[in-house]
Amino acid sequence: GAEPTYDYIVVGGGTSGLVVANRLSENDDINVLVIEAGGSVYNNPNVTSTTGYGKAFGTAIDWAYKTVDQEYAGNYPQTVRAGKALGGTSTINGMVYLRAQSAQIDAWEEIGNKDWNWKNLFPYYRKGEHFQGTNYSWLEGSGVAYDPAFHGFDGPLKVGWSETQLNDGLAQKLNTTYPNMPVPVPYNIDPNGGKMIGYALYPKTVDSKLNIREDAARAYYYPYKARSNLHVWLNTNANKLTWKTGDEATADGVEVTLANGTTTVVKASREVILAAGALKSPVLLELSGVGNPDILSKYGIGTKVNLPTVGENLQDQMNNGLTYDAKTSYSNLADYVAYPSVTQLFSNATAVGAQLLSKLPAYAAQVASANGNVTKAADIERFFKIQWNLIFKSHIPVAEVLVEPSGTTMGTEYWGSVPFSRGNIHISSANPTAAATIDPKYFMLDFDLHAQIQAARFIRQLFKTEPFADMAGAETKPGFSTVAANANDQGWSSFIKNNFRSNFHPISTAAMMPKDIGGVVDSSLKVYGTSNIRIVDASVIPFQVCGHLQSTVYAIAERAADIIKGQI
Ligand code: FAD
Repeated sequence: GAEPTYDYIVVGGGTSGLVVANRLSENDDINVLVIEAGGSVYNNPNVTSTTGYGKAFGTAIDWAYKTVDQEYAGNYPQTVRAGKALGGTSTINGMVYLRAQSAQIDAWEEIGNKDWNWKNLFPYYRKGEHFQGTNYSWLEGSGVAYDPAFHGFDGPLKVGWSETQLNDGLAQKLNTTYPNMPVPVPYNIDPNGGKMIGYALYPKTVDSKLNIREDAARAYYYPYKARSNLHVWLNTNANKLTWKTGDEATADGVEVTLANGTTTVVKASREVILAAGALKSPVLLELSGVGNPDILSKYGIGTKVNLPTVGENLQDQMNNGLTYDAKTSYSNLADYVAYPSVTQLFSNATAVGAQLLSKLPAYAAQVASANGNVTKAADIERFFKIQWNLIFKSHIPVAEVLVEPSGTTMGTEYWGSVPFSRGNIHISSANPTAAATIDPKYFMLDFDLHAQIQAARFIRQLFKTEPFADMAGAETKPGFSTVAANANDQGWSSFIKNNFRSNFHPISTAAMMPKDIGGVVDSSLKVYGTSNIRIVDASVIPFQVCGHLQSTVYAIAERAADIIKGQI
């Protein structure tokens, strides 16, 4: 016909989408089109700079999704950032490369995703990776080390340390301080092998030699762009999927609005692969008639596939910070991570565990009732029990704590790793350019606040512990006049809820799970009720991970490509 046709259309040229497009187009006989709403940022200094974190925020390459007023967190909206560019969110993120605790990935299999476990995902973390090692003069004396068994050396994605990351002398100070905490926090030589607990000097997605950001486009697209079967349409918005006539839900293309404003259809002969991110892929499903009929009909969209859990199970983390005066001035923007377990975070972990366990049925009922029982309380309770076991039996990290010296400030950031609160995202209109209704329900469940408070106390303790205590002066945020030294939970609550932000780790809005417990995609990442639509981005991750998301997103996408190619 007149319309251009490709074998596969990948919607979203971001972190996951470019991996899948690259791997599919390794086969000359396969024609792949990537549709990307943003443009190229190859030469954008807000992207390439390894010290420019935050510079892209609020610019044209930031979707800056807005949530609804957060009912349990101060009644104001939050901004959830995401990249709008070839390379997606990997072009604006913090470049942190930290995976997950192995038991967390094993939990995906426990809920019914056959063969999705740490053992099977681990080779895909390594497949994508081009680990650059420690052989740089500016790393001398930093104490950086790694376990080569945990890394890949032949993949496209450069991972390593950057020149500006560690040369401020703090690495060793922290290393001798964390073991002096009330419950000692040990040094972890390499947190990327599935065991994350401890203090670590972690790598980033950087080109160590050139000292520039490594993003998905730089790794997976630009070196391969000469492939005649790999096509990218930039500045092109995917509006919705189009359907083949007939009873079966088979996508035959995508309606797009081109850079010049023209709306047209592009055809896919095999599959449409959604990689538009956790806050867009479920929206595209709903705009295409896949979702909850009650929601679709409100906006005059006919139901093609009745799948009410599309957009449910949204999970994010909450990010707070404490700030201190630094006693010397730091020229670099470094950061140092610690991952405490529940026993390192809570002195009364056993009591905390017992109390939390008793609350899980009520938590699950609250999540279910908040979404009209679209997800069932019994299923949510089972997920929460798995999460409880991860925290109290497998001892996954329960918080992440980052120390970040910059100028005369000793900043910190922290978040509870695995909040229980779950919200949702749905369309608010049939117009594909309308903003969706995003409601993460931050702080809906009180354990999430407890974890956030306890991490703040952990940081105060760190700043009192020698030898690191000598490096910092007064606490300026919140400061003891705002939150007293011995403040109880009530005393911390308003500071935390009025100063947090999204941790920008939204997941699970098209969760990979069996359909009867709320899944949107099966373990081959195919959308239930459709014959040829897959989702390969952060939407499919069923449980929050303790690392940062990108490494796991890259690994899932690598595995997805093998699934689509029929190699698994
Ligand atoms: P994305 O990479 O966001 O890709 C989605 C793509 O789809 C985008 O390019 C988007 O423009 C495009 N798109 C969306 N809608 C449409 C449409 N309708 N038509 C066409 N194209 C469309 N993780 C880490 O591991 N380490 C970190 O340090 C870190 N820091 C972060 C800091 C920030 C500020 C943010 C926002 C995130 C951070 N993350 C970090 C998270 C991580 O980067 C993301 O989870 C991950 O990149 C998501 O990948 P994705 O493939 O799911 O989506």
